[in-house]
Amino acid sequence: AAMRHLPYFCRGEVVKGFGRGSKELGIPTANFSDQVVESFPSDISAGIYYGWACVGNGDVHKMVLSVGWNPFYKNIKKSVETHIIHTFKDDFYGEILSVVIIGYIRSEKNFSSLEALISAIQEDIEEAKRQLDLPEHLKLKEDNFFHLPEGNQ
Ligand code: ADP
Ligand code: MG
Repeated sequence: AAMRHLPYFCRGEVVKGFGRGSKELGIPTANFSDQVVESFPSDISAGIYYGWACVGNGDVHKMVLSVGWNPFYKNIKKSVETHIIHTFKDDFYGEILSVVIIGYIRSEKNFSSLEALISAIQEDIEEAKRQLDLPEHLKLKEDNFFHLPEGNQ
């Protein structure tokens, strides 16, 4: 179920998350609006994925993305969050984020400590970087999907 829908192209507005402190951990995650999340295939597996992302009509960067269940809503509501592997000068709430989700890294896990969580995410990021350097994955970086028409952000 993780791979069947891949590559998956999706775009939508970046909204405020739940302030779980991702940014404080050095790993900010841009949250998609409910509208985008609800349009996701319902059987796409929860877990961590890698792919490409761009904000507005900016450059295309490597990313890791999590599909998960939000405890805030008693786990009935899915959330989709993208960490772009790039340092941005400013936040980009309200902007249009475009992503292509290419591959699955792992399922969601519980971690015994914050250190364990952070080091798992750092491994996810390294895995994403390696995978995305493969020629078949680099190809998608140039996909027309990322070239938005003029005047449409
Ligand atoms: P929230 O709970 O509102 O999602 P986060 O701590 O997860 O807060 O921070 C996410 C926000 O940080 C994004 O919506 C975006 O505006 C900003 N941001 C800055 N750099 C990045 C990045 N490299 N990847 C994702 N979001 C980033
Ligand atoms: Mg977030």
